[in-house]
Amino acid sequence: MTKADPKKFHIKSFGCQMNVYDGERMSEMLVDQGMTAAENSEAADLVVLNTCHIREKAVDKVYSDIGRLRRKDGSSPMIAVAGCVAQAEGKEISRRAPSVDIVVGPQAYHRLPELMETAKSGKKALDTDMPAISKFDILPTRGKQARPTAFLTVQEGCDKFCTYCVVPYTRGAEISRPWSDLVDEAKALVDGGAREITLLGQNVNAWRGEDEKGNMQGLDGLIRALDRIPGLKRIRYMTSHPNDMTDGLVAAHGDVGSLMPFLHLPVQSGSDRILKAMNRSHSVRSYLTILEQMRAVRPDIALSGDFIVGFPGETDQDFEETLQIVRDANYSQAFSFKYSPRPGTPAAGMDDQIAPEVMDERLQRLQALLNEQQYAFNQQTVGRTTDILLERQGKLDGQLIGKTPWLQSLHIISPDLKIGDMVEVEIARAGPNSLTGEIKERMAA
Ligand code: SAM
Ligand code: SF4
Repeated sequence: MTKADPKKFHIKSFGCQMNVYDGERMSEMLVDQGMTAAENSEAADLVVLNTCHIREKAVDKVYSDIGRLRRKDGSSPMIAVAGCVAQAEGKEISRRAPSVDIVVGPQAYHRLPELMETAKSGKKALDTDMPAISKFDILPTRGKQARPTAFLTVQEGCDKFCTYCVVPYTRGAEISRPWSDLVDEAKALVDGGAREITLLGQNVNAWRGEDEKGNMQGLDGLIRALDRIPGLKRIRYMTSHPNDMTDGLVAAHGDVGSLMPFLHLPVQSGSDRILKAMNRSHSVRSYLTILEQMRAVRPDIALSGDFIVGFPGETDQDFEETLQIVRDANYSQAFSFKYSPRPGTPAAGMDDQIAPEVMDERLQRLQALLNEQQYAFNQQTVGRTTDILLERQGKLDGQLIGKTPWLQSLHIISPDLKIGDMVEVEIARAGPNSLTGEIKERMAA
């Protein structure tokens, strides 16, 4: 059956910030093609589900979302499945969900307009290539974006092959985007109103590239160059891998004013035995040493991490060691997940898979400890005066929500301020998940 030429699109991104970034780039491309963004999927005649394959739950959610796109009269919009599920499952998606018209992988979404042409003629369109020409060379240059915070993907893919993880298969080999493209894109974002940029990559600190003089630089060199862009007040980066943490990047935290005092450094487990089985190539000691070095140059740095509980073969003792590394590291926030076997990864075929009820119990204990640390971190910032960048409206009248340098959400009530303002506040109260502040003064633009 042929499909009408779509005029309005809706993109729903699941999973990591890199998917959010890809969703923004797809949206800019479709607008460039003359389409407009619809408020929701009901009002759209093209719906793009920009998917995540990292855990089984994320995949199940995509299929239930596809089912929900069917309308009361039995019709459905043109449906495109993009992102890592598209890459990993390919044709299987149209078999499981025949209403899907387009399947497009994360390295091929610049070809969405051509795939829509195929779909219009009633044929299924599939592109999961990882082409040699980067999508970044073909996507339209960044337009004006009204938001004060922006994502900028600097690095994609992963060569590390942790035994539980699908990323090396769905996102491909590690590539770094060129220096000049990144500096130009950052300038365009700042011209468009961004005051904070978060540099993104599956292993963002593995970024390498030649600067305009032909000198090899790491992420710290790029950060120092972006720090010189007038109007850019804050730089963040995520997610980092412990093995790619360099002395230069640690030093940058001590002397680059716009680099925020926050580090997201996943460790996954506190047991060296499990880290080895995960093929993490770092140890508990080497991880804690990085945290010590960071705290030496930036004593107020807020630390975050990722944890997996219930990796195959994880004993009670291994799990106790994970609780111990949490106590030693002392996080301001962290993500923790139950191990999810992913098809095609080595860990999925390992003996000693852990029973779901054991994973549940371990996850609860780990999260209780992490929540306790997060609350304590928030409370210890009460009374500090700090700047916040206002990002969005709150639920109450005149309420605005921004982020502190340590990536905590902070609420203030002030009818005179607007999104994008930077203000100095005193942190007045702390809850487990957010802070309340009182305005001290407004800062220069
Ligand atoms: N590259 C980063 C690193 O290795 O530190 C992490 C990127 S990965 C996309 C985000 C997080 O998802 C990982 O840190 C890990 O905690 C979690 N994750 C990945 N595969 C998983 C799996 N099979 N089951 C549960 N959690 C998983
Ligand atoms: Fe996945 Fe990160 Fe390991 Fe790469 S380094 S395989 S992205 S967990």
